[in-house]
Amino acid sequence: MQTSIVAYPHIGKERELKYLLEKYWRKEISAATLEKEAATLRQVHWQNQVDGSLDYLTINDFSLYDTVLDTACLFNIIPTRYRRLGLSALDTYFALARGYRDEKGTVAPLAMKKWFNTNYHYIVPEFSDDCDIKLVSQTPLAQYRETASYQLKKKLLLLGPFTLLKLSAYNGSKGPATYVPALIRAYLEFFRCCQQEKVELLQLDEPALTLDLQQEDLNLLKKLYSELLAGKGKLQILLQTYFGDIRDCYDDLIKLDFDALGLDFVEGEKTLQLVSSAPFPTDKILFAGIVNGRNVWRNSYTASLNLIKNLQLQGINLVLQSSCSLQHVPYSLTGEKNLPPALKEKLAFGEEKIRELLLLKELATADPAADSTAVTPTVNTAKNQVKLLPLQTKATYEQRAKLQQQCLNLPLLPTTTIGSFPQSQAVRQNRRRYNKQLLKLCDYEKFNYAEIKKCIRFQEEIGLDVLVHGEFERNDMVEFFAQQLSGFVVTQNAWIQSYGSRCVKPPIIVDDIKYRQPMTVKWIKYAQSLTTKPVKAVLTGPTTIVNWSFNREDIPAQNSILQLAAALKNEVAALEKSGSKIIQIDEPALREKLPLRKVDQPSYLETAVNAFQFLHNSCRPETMIQTHICYSDYTDIMPWLDKLDADVILLEASRTSKSCLQNPAFLQLNAALSLGVYDVHSECIPSVAELLTAIKQRLAVIPAAALWVAPDCGLKTRTYKELAPSLKNMVTACRRMRQML
Ligand code: GLN
Ligand code: ZN
Repeated sequence: MQTSIVAYPHIGKERELKYLLEKYWRKEISAATLEKEAATLRQVHWQNQVDGSLDYLTINDFSLYDTVLDTACLFNIIPTRYRRLGLSALDTYFALARGYRDEKGTVAPLAMKKWFNTNYHYIVPEFSDDCDIKLVSQTPLAQYRETASYQLKKKLLLLGPFTLLKLSAYNGSKGPATYVPALIRAYLEFFRCCQQEKVELLQLDEPALTLDLQQEDLNLLKKLYSELLAGKGKLQILLQTYFGDIRDCYDDLIKLDFDALGLDFVEGEKTLQLVSSAPFPTDKILFAGIVNGRNVWRNSYTASLNLIKNLQLQGINLVLQSSCSLQHVPYSLTGEKNLPPALKEKLAFGEEKIRELLLLKELATADPAADSTAVTPTVNTAKNQVKLLPLQTKATYEQRAKLQQQCLNLPLLPTTTIGSFPQSQAVRQNRRRYNKQLLKLCDYEKFNYAEIKKCIRFQEEIGLDVLVHGEFERNDMVEFFAQQLSGFVVTQNAWIQSYGSRCVKPPIIVDDIKYRQPMTVKWIKYAQSLTTKPVKAVLTGPTTIVNWSFNREDIPAQNSILQLAAALKNEVAALEKSGSKIIQIDEPALREKLPLRKVDQPSYLETAVNAFQFLHNSCRPETMIQTHICYSDYTDIMPWLDKLDADVILLEASRTSKSCLQNPAFLQLNAALSLGVYDVHSECIPSVAELLTAIKQRLAVIPAAALWVAPDCGLKTRTYKELAPSLKNMVTACRRMRQML
């Protein structure tokens, strides 16, 4: 029996890659330095896998931005508008990921989407009519060569063609099927290079196989793999799946000529059943994902050992593995000095999970009489019933809208932002110094009040209609609340990658969640005291807080969502009492943990919507409830958005597809709507003309009386220097539009 992981995180234990990338983008280091330092980081990561006594080393799981984008670039799937810039391969890559606006031209970045139901975002490759698919890079093989001195078994990772096709966008007259022959040729060419390089095992990641598959998907899968496997020669192939079970294609897959199959026993509800009902072929290796790659609790050893025994009894050739890439958990517990020891004992981050694999292997191969209860899990996985919260009826949207307009007197196409303003060095330093106790509370607060004042004056000058206080007291929209509620612990260094160079540090839910005292009121009250324009209060919603935290395993996550709704309801009441007329409850991650399979979705959505409604359904009808959702394609959950019963829904939209913008379901929403008019993640400053076009596009689907104008998301990653022209242009475009109406 051997051990392996699906992939190792690549951002670096101390977020080394983040800092390197940002230096490169600021033109402080050269491309050569970036490449050299990245190579060093890869060596560190491989050494960690060696030190962890894994049997397999995983290669090409490293990426300078995103592995999906790497795969697109490997096969030359690069739209002409990026090529035309004439940049180096590296800078073209970053232009695809982040957009480009410099001396060589202007181009917006490719779309970005949630990676399945994780907290990671991938770059959406774009197939277009003029795309010439072929193998154009040797980067994965060059990385394979970098591991020459390591003695372990080696596997080279590459995103598989099925998932690549499923996750891409098609921006021409042709659909995915057109690209299949060329893509097969390109993968076969890659196989040939792998053989030349004597690659021991090629791991093709196909997480899309855990989605609901239709007949056409199964046909595509068959077409791709019958041809690829016929041409693989002596190359050994591991087909790796994760994020669930492959109930729709398991029977087909095991008949194919793979050498190994990777299955997820943690999230794959039906994986064991599948493996037992149609026997797993004894000539293949099963890479069994039994250590949870998505949560931070220690493995349940008794359950795992039983599972292993069960698989062994079936005569299956086993490799014990993480259930998915370890990029979804932090690197190591060693960075956590402040966690209570009793809690630490129950946790396992990336490095500890690798040790757990070794331990499981030892226990599974030890004398069966040996006592395994010594390492019995600390986590109990009982499934409690989820009880929904009582709802009370509010006035209808139409009634509320009238009252709110009387009270707020807003112009047509009101302009606003999503909440945060630039988190400058000074803002972050102020917080850091306070946290390190180098600053007294009153001085820390004084700084924030000054920053709020600056922010309010700035917004007044720009001419926005609904202002925000700027969120300077928040390091992060989840941690800020987690720190002040009971039931959470906050870590010091448990970063995970969100996208590109951006990381998040999810808190851990360790107990029932309870409200302590007002968390946001004083800041909002102060901001409102500075202006006659309405200042909206901004809170993070219960589903997002839970989705962006590591959850308990002893109760369903949905119970934590409901507990949180009950806790946050106190904050909403406190805000209303202190005079807030507009309260925005952000649920950017509402769709993020939407179960991948349709059958499981309604119960998740019901809890999310129930929690949100419960939070505001005691509010006065005059109080305007806004919500903000971003990052995902939400067109398929539109009816549920309606059930949130919010007055204004602010959606991210500038990087999502046109078809989403034209969705007629927008018309059916009982709420006013903003579809973000510009991308806040790009340094590009949108022009008045571009913004005017964007507003007109939105007016084609949404009546003027129901349209709000706002950027895509919070502005914390931008500078005031970028914001001033961007927001000014947005307000100018909006005023011009008002005159035309
Ligand atoms: N109010 C938050 C902000 O502006 C929302 C962030 C988000 O949606 N990710 O930063
Ligand atoms: Zn957002």
